[in-house]
Amino acid sequence: MTRQIAFLDLPAQQARLKGSIQKRVDAVMAHCRFVLGPEVQELEQRLAEFGGAKHAIGVSSGTDALLMVLMGEEIGPGDAVFLPAFTYTATAEVVLLLGGTPVFVDVDPQTFQISLESLKERLEAVRQAGELEPRVVIGVDLFGQPAPWDELKAWTAQQDLTLVADCAQSFGATYHGRRLGHEAKATTLSFFPSKPLGGYGDGGAILTDDDDLAALYHSLRTHGEGRTRYEVERIGINGRLDTLQAAVLLAKLDVFGDELKRRDAIASAYDAAMPEGIVPPVRVANSESAWAIYTILLSDAGKRDSLQAFLKDAGVPTAIYYPKPLHRQPAYAPHHDGASLPVAEGLGARVLALPIHPELTDDDVSYIIAALNRWAGEQA
Ligand SMILES: *Cc1c(COP(=O)(O)O)cnc(C)c1O
Repeated sequence: MTRQIAFLDLPAQQARLKGSIQKRVDAVMAHCRFVLGPEVQELEQRLAEFGGAKHAIGVSSGTDALLMVLMGEEIGPGDAVFLPAFTYTATAEVVLLLGGTPVFVDVDPQTFQISLESLKERLEAVRQAGELEPRVVIGVDLFGQPAPWDELKAWTAQQDLTLVADCAQSFGATYHGRRLGHEAKATTLSFFPSKPLGGYGDGGAILTDDDDLAALYHSLRTHGEGRTRYEVERIGINGRLDTLQAAVLLAKLDVFGDELKRRDAIASAYDAAMPEGIVPPVRVANSESAWAIYTILLSDAGKRDSLQAFLKDAGVPTAIYYPKPLHRQPAYAPHHDGASLPVAEGLGARVLALPIHPELTDDDVSYIIAALNRWAGEQA
């Protein structure tokens, strides 16, 4: 029997959590403090605890979190910000919004995380050209697995570069047994509904251990306010997290640990049953993924497209993250120096993401595995 699997099942998650979410939302409706109400601070405390950081600042989105962190670094014209070419557009757009220049870096062919070797080459090229000042490296924990933080920390310190962590896909993941959230000067989170910890709209947070930076981010998210509300100390934005989003996220955070375990169990089931010809995600050493995305790798575009069509017919939706690397996108190509980034350029044709949300039943997972094996059987 053909079933229809959901790629993301927010209605099922809502049915499971309805009572606790409703209670939280009703409390906000009763006190009516819709902007920076008490739930925001409660969530900030819980996020800081969960991520092992001293401070968490609730903000309007993961994109705004990155924007404010780069505003805090005073990124502007003439500044180079290094980031992987194989990531979501938000990581790069904030650099250009501030007048800085994104310098795209290639990724590791196995883990898809930023390549330190390419990063070294790209820094050397920027230094040789002599037009930009190298300032910041944004490490992205792609698909929920950690970037090579040990290497990034050591190397950026040596090169006098500031390290920022885009943790939009990886909140909840661990690295050397500790949750991600304090590998860089500042860590940004996203609560977009499809992220592992998703709200009912846009939202995000910034984590940091630095007291002065935390104060700066509080100011930036409220129009650059000073010690009093109508003292404008700097240029900021309207970058606050809504109270209603914080309320929903508090209810979701209660079950987040269990959901992460469920995602990991599904990933292990997929890994164990993956037929020949399909490469399961290569795990980053000393880590547990948050499994925002479970990405398999095919040998070429023809195979990938064939598997995607086969799964679609079987009622199994899939997605392609990301079909085109950023430096090849029309918006970014004019800002790219023309360097070839062969891994990032090749991955888009070969990757395929399978459903991995916590509402998948064991039967659903077996059904998806059976479909993968039927396709592989036909290829043999
Ligand atoms: C989702 C995402 C963002 C942006 O988060 P929003 O909350 O949607 O603004 C930034 N970086 C990465 C890697 C993401 O996946």
